[in-house]
Amino acid sequence: MRRACPYCQSSHQVGLDEYSLSPWRIVRCGECSFVYLANPVDYADLVEDQAWETNVLKEIERRKTDRPFSYRLSQLTRRRLKILGRPKSHRFSGVFKSGRILDVGCGKGENLPPPLVPFGVEISKNLSQIADKAMRARGGLCIHGNAVDGVKSFDSQFFDGVLLRSFLEHETKPLPLLIGLNRILKTDGIVYIRVPNFSSLNRRVMGRKWCGFRYPDHVNYFSMKSLSRMADKAGFRMRLVNRATVVVDDNIKAILEKT
Ligand SMILES: [Zn+2]
Repeated sequence: MRRACPYCQSSHQVGLDEYSLSPWRIVRCGECSFVYLANPVDYADLVEDQAWETNVLKEIERRKTDRPFSYRLSQLTRRRLKILGRPKSHRFSGVFKSGRILDVGCGKGENLPPPLVPFGVEISKNLSQIADKAMRARGGLCIHGNAVDGVKSFDSQFFDGVLLRSFLEHETKPLPLLIGLNRILKTDGIVYIRVPNFSSLNRRVMGRKWCGFRYPDHVNYFSMKSLSRMADKAGFRMRLVNRATVVVDDNIKAILEKT
């Protein structure tokens, strides 16, 4: 799949060879400077063939080879894999007080503790079935499908909150997704977002070995500026949660509010 800039739709691309890993091409938009993967896999392949559970195992093998001395599982990978157990703390849970919350890319649907009413969208068939069962028991449900289409099945202003934790970097259509989320969110609702921080100091120091690079799972590489700009275009204002430490943080953590 060939892809134009997800922010401005320009097909003018400047290759970033130092960050690419054949056959995966990381590029910078020649018009707006957004950094993204130019040749991601299709949605259809993600349903089973390239599902997270499978892909992450291949990626771990690459990292072992690539970083034999400094190699360690990132917290994100550990959380996704579940094989090493799952941290019980929900550090973002204080963000949402109550009501209906949508977890985009919800996995097994374990991220939203009571009293929140959990809803999800999940592209992996297997995981979405597990999540749907768990969420229905608590008044919610999980939709199987890609995020952009899944979000369309909800009514306007249905949700009190949306969780976009470690998801937007995987989404080939991040702007349409944010626009869709704006529609289904109540006027005073919020989106909690966490994505790898391409503007982090660590990325500059580590280069291609930076933990934020995942081939081909991460298809968008947001800086604070490019995330804020995209949020703005979708009708949100962005507020950093980790403002004090973001320069040295591998992740951007932010709250989006409707403008
Ligand atoms: Zn662009």
